[in-house]
Amino acid sequence: IITQCTSPGQIALTYDDGPESFTSELLDKLDTLGVKATFFVSGNNVGKGEIDGCGNSWAAIVKRTYDSGHQIAHHTWTHQDLEAANSTIRKTEMIYNEMAFRNIFGWFPTYMRPPFLSCGSNCMSLMSQLGYHIISTNLDTKDYENDSPTLIQVSKNRYSSGVSNTSTSNSYIVLNHDTHEQTVTTLTDYMVQTAKDRGYKLVTVGECLGDPKENWYRSAGSGGA
Ligand code: ZN
Repeated sequence: IITQCTSPGQIALTYDDGPESFTSELLDKLDTLGVKATFFVSGNNVGKGEIDGCGNSWAAIVKRTYDSGHQIAHHTWTHQDLEAANSTIRKTEMIYNEMAFRNIFGWFPTYMRPPFLSCGSNCMSLMSQLGYHIISTNLDTKDYENDSPTLIQVSKNRYSSGVSNTSTSNSYIVLNHDTHEQTVTTLTDYMVQTAKDRGYKLVTVGECLGDPKENWYRSAGSGGA
């Protein structure tokens, strides 16, 4: 389970649980800031409907995320606890989301983050079988607890005290959620500025691990003989 970059001086901002209503605004912001991030996409959580379904804009937003140069990763189909789930659900949580990515892109990711960061022996053995890098975090802003104009300062403080001034010997994979307004309107600017002020380069998780882009996804193939 991976919690930091392979080389120091890098920060990978990650956003879980989307696409959701604030994701497009976040993409605008990251474009303006010139920053590439990593999105751990859930396919059908919080009642939003299937990302590859008709009648919603999720597929277009996920495509835009990819086209903008961000990394797309897997965060399960309905956001269940993979370690606690039975083996059938554990597998469908992975496969259904792979099918949705296949329908949108023709490929699916090689990187995943387990919901609730819950991945013990049950989850790890399936991820190894399915060929996933399991991404955790070494800096959780807990933005989901602080989604108000005043409380978001708590997440800023967590980030500020979590990121060392010594960029030459530290790196971070930062956990956020694009499902929260303050994360998009306030926290992201702060994280980017603080990273730059302290001499860090902002990268995707794949870059942070020194893994070439062609390894981040795999073809869904032709559907078999
Ligand atoms: Zn999540």
